[in-house]
Amino acid sequence: MLEIVIASCNDGKIEEIKNYSDHLNSKINWLTYKQVEGFPEVEEAGSTFLENAKIKASAIAEYTKKMVIADDSGLEVDWLGGKPGIYSSRYAGKSASDYDNRKKLIQNLKDAPYSKRSARFICSLVLWDPKKGMIFKTSGVCEGRIGYTEKGTGGFGYDPLFTPEGYDRTMAQLQPDEKNRISHRGKALAAFCRFIENF
Ligand code: IMP
Repeated sequence: MLEIVIASCNDGKIEEIKNYSDHLNSKINWLTYKQVEGFPEVEEAGSTFLENAKIKASAIAEYTKKMVIADDSGLEVDWLGGKPGIYSSRYAGKSASDYDNRKKLIQNLKDAPYSKRSARFICSLVLWDPKKGMIFKTSGVCEGRIGYTEKGTGGFGYDPLFTPEGYDRTMAQLQPDEKNRISHRGKALAAFCRFIENF
């Protein structure tokens, strides 16, 4: 049995990682911040999603001495020149809620016509061994468009504003397994699961 710590305090993200790898239940025992006393808060000081994923993974592996999965993800909006990008979780300020971030995004896109509201979710994911360092990395992208108002109650973060390409519902209106099939994190997790199956 592999014991792997999830380097995140985002319950939405943790849920998606656990759900996606459900079929590997007999291989992976997931540990979260709830089981690790003094789970450190890691400053995401990198300039790319991959750098931030590595910073989180190495810090938590150093602290726990266990294998760690970390993902860094975010939303790139073309009208805003790729913002909020790596700053997605703190778009409206350091302790901003998902709601605050969505409100700021709606405001900053108020002049953008629907045809110019293209955006994508990006996820960089790494698996870190406390002795060997990074033993696996992958990434996933999900293209879509930002709406004018929030729709749906599922998911987390910017999901109520993001309609994936080829869909007429937002991420927050999709069932969890539907989101996992097409999302940036779902794509990265598919590669991660294949890696673990052959581990
Ligand atoms: P991280 O925890 O630093 O990776 O921050 C990721 C941030 O990007 C989240 O707080 C959300 O604002 C946004 N984000 C990442 N993935 C998703 C997703 O699947 N749905 C909605 N928002 C997401």
